[in-house]
Amino acid sequence: MDELLKELSEYAIVETEVPMSSMTTLHIGGPAKYVVYPENTIALDAIMKMLKEKNVPFKVFGKGSNLLCSDQPFNGVVLRLDRHMDAYYFSDDEVTAEAGCSLIALSYAAAKHGLSGLEFASGIPGTIGGAVFMNAGAYKSSMSEVLKEVFVYRDGVLEWIKAEDCMFGYRSSIFQKHNDWIVAGVKMKLVPGNIDEIRSLMDNRRERRISSQPLDKPSAGSVFRNPENSAAWKLIEGIGYRGRTIGGAKVSEKHVNFIVNENCAKASDYLELVQEIQEKVRSQFGIDLHMEVEKFNWD
Ligand SMILES: Cc1cc2nc3c(=O)[nH]c(=O)nc-3n(C[C@H](O)[C@H](O)[C@H](O)COP(=O)(O)OP(=O)(O)OC[C@H]3O[C@@H](n4cnc5c(N)ncnc54)[C@H](O)[C@@H]3O)c2cc1C
Repeated sequence: MDELLKELSEYAIVETEVPMSSMTTLHIGGPAKYVVYPENTIALDAIMKMLKEKNVPFKVFGKGSNLLCSDQPFNGVVLRLDRHMDAYYFSDDEVTAEAGCSLIALSYAAAKHGLSGLEFASGIPGTIGGAVFMNAGAYKSSMSEVLKEVFVYRDGVLEWIKAEDCMFGYRSSIFQKHNDWIVAGVKMKLVPGNIDEIRSLMDNRRERRISSQPLDKPSAGSVFRNPENSAAWKLIEGIGYRGRTIGGAKVSEKHVNFIVNENCAKASDYLELVQEIQEKVRSQFGIDLHMEVEKFNWD
């Protein structure tokens, strides 16, 4: 057993040579040398200090629902909080949740407690940590509207920071500027509501997703951010790319801002399709489309 594996195993369950394709909703990605599942913040702290001291690269994964991993091996540590660090606690109209908690599960738990505010999130297949990082949102609402504080591990210290200090914007946050910060948990403020009304809104949102998104195929959700004053899907439709296929990657027939893994797509198939779309949209409409899906482990 190598030295790092031995030391990491003191603090967490560690798996080795795990295909990132098994940890992403796109089902694409080469092997990660180590995957580590800390059980609590004490283990997380010890692991982070170890990685820093040994200068080992790491990446936190939530559910991998916004990641395009390359097919290359990742010679570092993937840190996953969703196996153990996923508890949540309700108190009056507030909920405190660990970062590995599923956003969908938390939305349904909030509804059960008669708390409104997370209906928009009830179909977003990520963790709380990933949703804070992205300021995930839908139906004109986003995480920043319900967040009160974020529990952050940074520079070897765990501390609560106020949501106002997280620089939230459209699918953006301060965490995107600090790749070594880890979201460990959140405090959210919700609003008391009628359970039946909350559930009915969630059902309605679910129906809309099922009818408009290719949920039966592997994807990473919307590929591109919406440019100002336009919608990415309209531009992709405008260049005639519905159904356009490269290798195993295909622009969804159902929702053109989704690229699906139709048939054992390589990471490069997906990226080639992205780049083709960007070039065509730029030359036809003079608009730059930026990826919402994040590339990880590319040179
Ligand atoms: C079918 C489908 C529908 C989707 N619909 C929506 C939608 O309506 N709205 C929307 O906004 N998104 C949507 N998404 C995209 C995705 O679900 C969100 O961006 C989600 O917030 C990503 O969460 P995750 O846990 O999967 O993060 P991952 O994809 O695992 O990671 C994304 C980024 O967050 C970072 N990260 C994850 N956890 C932490 C942490 N604890 N601390 C610090 N950084 C962390 C990662 O390092 C990475 O940089 C959709 C995706 C799919 C597949």
